[in-house]
Amino acid sequence: MTVADRLGPTIFERSRPGRGGGKVPHPPKDALSRIPAGNLREAAPRLPEVSEPELTRHYVNLSQLNYSVDTGFYPLGSCTMKYNPKINEWAARLNGFAALHPLAPDEASQGTLQLLWELEEALAEIGGMKAVTLQPAAGAQGELTGILMIRAYHRSRGETDRTEVLVPDSAHGTNPATASMAGFKTITIPSAPDGGVDVDAFRAALGPRTAAIMITNPSTLGLFEARLCELLDAVHEVGALAYMDGANLNAIMGRFKPGEAGFDVMHINVHKTFSTPHGGGGPGAGPVGVGEKLLPFLPSPRVLRASDGSFRLEGAAERPTSIGRVRAFVGNTGVLVRAYAYIRAHGGTGLCEVSDDAVLAANYLKVRVAEVLDVPFTRPCMHEFVASSATLKAETGIRTLDVAKRLIDYGFHPPTIYFPLTVDEALLIEPTETESLETLDAFVEALRRIVVEAHSDPELLHSAPHSSPVRRLDETMAARQPNLRWRAMTGVQMPCPD
Ligand SMILES: *Cc1c(COP(=O)(O)O)cnc(C)c1O
Repeated sequence: MTVADRLGPTIFERSRPGRGGGKVPHPPKDALSRIPAGNLREAAPRLPEVSEPELTRHYVNLSQLNYSVDTGFYPLGSCTMKYNPKINEWAARLNGFAALHPLAPDEASQGTLQLLWELEEALAEIGGMKAVTLQPAAGAQGELTGILMIRAYHRSRGETDRTEVLVPDSAHGTNPATASMAGFKTITIPSAPDGGVDVDAFRAALGPRTAAIMITNPSTLGLFEARLCELLDAVHEVGALAYMDGANLNAIMGRFKPGEAGFDVMHINVHKTFSTPHGGGGPGAGPVGVGEKLLPFLPSPRVLRASDGSFRLEGAAERPTSIGRVRAFVGNTGVLVRAYAYIRAHGGTGLCEVSDDAVLAANYLKVRVAEVLDVPFTRPCMHEFVASSATLKAETGIRTLDVAKRLIDYGFHPPTIYFPLTVDEALLIEPTETESLETLDAFVEALRRIVVEAHSDPELLHSAPHSSPVRRLDETMAARQPNLRWRAMTGVQMPCPD
């Protein structure tokens, strides 16, 4: 079957004039004349005309071309395709939350405000922080919010010479991007040979110009920073602040509180740690927790609880030290409802178990993968670990990209590849804590067979995947000249709107 066959005709190509879809039950006779003339269309919209079953089949069939957490194992490191309990979808769709108008007055929004307030409390407890803002719409925006608060803090003390942010070379790309967006100069610090941050290199770069350091802990190599206390002490000695990228929180919940360890600010990717499906780049949330020093600068409006137990949003001019709003309204509420439901369902002990199981699954898989590929860092990992096909490449010419593409033929989503950048031919593998032993073993078995194939039939791997609707793409062309626009493949019935 060709790609065109698998993808089928588009919904516009299926359209036939007059072939209707759903029916509106008993519309009033004067329905159209009730709409003001100025709001009526001059021409009918160019919508495809198909029957309801055709429409349903079209989109259900398209959805079957996707790989998803509902169809198989998704060991994507760094981006953490977590367990997303289906019941949280129900909770997020409850009318009281989903249908609440964002401009509804506080009196009519008590339930949502209470949920937000309680979620802030729970996240502050988990992070060991004084307070939390739920506004940022993603981790990257949480970082920006945190760094803007750090900037406001230094300015409030008249320390405008603090223009530098130190970031280790293993950091997620959003860290240096954030520092630059906030007007800081990023100083990249090389990692130590054991994969951890190089505390001595950090110490040497710290000084009166340092505004902050940004550390991901556990790191993007899946390692917990061994010399954290030493590093944080050194940062505070020079009057700088410490930012923790908390995207990997799912490995340490209940076991380590960044605020208590001395971090001044952190973000949490609730769509990674607390159950929002985010594979399609859908909405997220990046709440930010702060310690005492940054409390005055939190974005406004905050959710406040009055002494009578009622809730309200802070007024616009109530806290002049605030950095202001970072997002419309109160944040991505649907994502926050899911996070609340996840946290309440697990409770404190349950969240500790989630972390323990994530660490156990990752360490098990790491030991098993070491049977077939290189595993450069031998000390125990947290929720993810780095493997490498550098040896396989030297022996057979097969690269990590080929291994990843061939995994698709074995029914697995590939792990993250070529990240972190500091490891040659890297694969960043993260099993979630809910995967069974059988699934983890089957994944290792697929890798084992691929390594055998690399020696016996390398061409099979170079041209993989063989079973997917879209075969091997030209990676460079796909990035540089993405062709995302629909073009007729089987004859046009109707022009597609641009
Ligand atoms: C995912 C991730 C981010 C960015 O978060 P988004 O929600 O995707 O914006 C930042 N740092 C790390 C370590 C991450 O894994």
